[in-house]
Amino acid sequence: ALKCGIVGLPNVGKSTLFNCLSSAKAQAANFPFCTIEPNLGVITVPDERLTKLAEIVQPGRIVPATCEIVDIAGLVKGASKGEGLGNKFLGNIRECDAIIHVIRCFEDDNVVREGGMAVNPVEDKEIIDTELQLKDLETIEAQLSKQQKVAAAGNKDAKIMVTVLEAYKEVLEQGKNARSVEFDSKEEQQAAHDLFLLTTKPVLYVCNVDESSAKTGNEYSKQIEKIAAEEGAEAMIIAAKTEEDIASLDSYEDKKMFLDELGLEESGVNRLINKAYHLLNLQTFITAGEMEVKAWTFHKGWKAPQCAGVIHTDFEKGFIRAEVIKYDDYIKYGSEAAIREAGKLGIEGKDYVVQDGDIMHFRFNV
Ligand code: GDP
Repeated sequence: ALKCGIVGLPNVGKSTLFNCLSSAKAQAANFPFCTIEPNLGVITVPDERLTKLAEIVQPGRIVPATCEIVDIAGLVKGASKGEGLGNKFLGNIRECDAIIHVIRCFEDDNVVREGGMAVNPVEDKEIIDTELQLKDLETIEAQLSKQQKVAAAGNKDAKIMVTVLEAYKEVLEQGKNARSVEFDSKEEQQAAHDLFLLTTKPVLYVCNVDESSAKTGNEYSKQIEKIAAEEGAEAMIIAAKTEEDIASLDSYEDKKMFLDELGLEESGVNRLINKAYHLLNLQTFITAGEMEVKAWTFHKGWKAPQCAGVIHTDFEKGFIRAEVIKYDDYIKYGSEAAIREAGKLGIEGKDYVVQDGDIMHFRFNV
């Protein structure tokens, strides 16, 4: 399953965000290291198309896509050298597909900032970035001399790896993230991937602001948005504490009213998950049957057989064709029979590139 790791300095609002993201309960308390064990939560990916389809199909159940969220606490200055249980936490990041980097953009004298200085989101971000970069440099140093020896003996793969390692080393030593390097050749891209560096993982910067800045952001969040834009990374504004309050409300109407008051159309949690999907180039196709209406996650650009393989490897191996209904058509015509009659059921072969929201029915040999 897709896994996102929440990182950030202590007391920036990681557990608060985690709490409103997942049903699991992490302890949010006003001191560093309160969440020592990485907290794992599973969240469902909000998708109103599933509900709309279910109204038509009347299935036994709705099964949304899921995403794992890990609250990775304990990253402090010096983490890469083992400070504050840092090394262990850095290991947890390695297992994640994407990083959600929470940055404190709120003022509150009651919430201690590491080091005790005034709120400074740019510095906070740099502290975390630096620790991840140092860890990556360590990984690279460990590989480089080994690979150089093998390359010197004429090994082609090692030569490619050395090129990649050196390119990464150069930018990391300048205090930049490894993701700022792009490789042209497939071989180099593969070698880069095989390194599993921390700063090549896609990142989403989350500016945690106070309720009054929930819609517009503030001076702090603007600083981060500017840097993110320069890096070509995504940033978003969330009022984690407020979102936690919203998440605790029972009824949909109450939640909606609260959001309206803040001038928001969608909860931060929904926005965050949608951003994460976008960041990772993920899309959703749907299967709709009497038993269930279900969302399946695939990578943008995947063809029909590969998507069939998400459901079952046999579906991919024995793939014959796919019957595709566009979501809008399903809603417009209101039944599969009407869709067929209108000639809106697409019969697609193995080269069909599946689109987000496609309702798929795979035909295959067993
Ligand atoms: P973590 O150490 O990064 O996991 O931080 P926590 O989520 O435990 O938050 C630390 C403290 O800051 C808690 O007391 C939270 O209630 C508080 N907090 C989190 N977000 C906000 C916010 O947006 N505004 C204010 N004023 N306090 C917040």
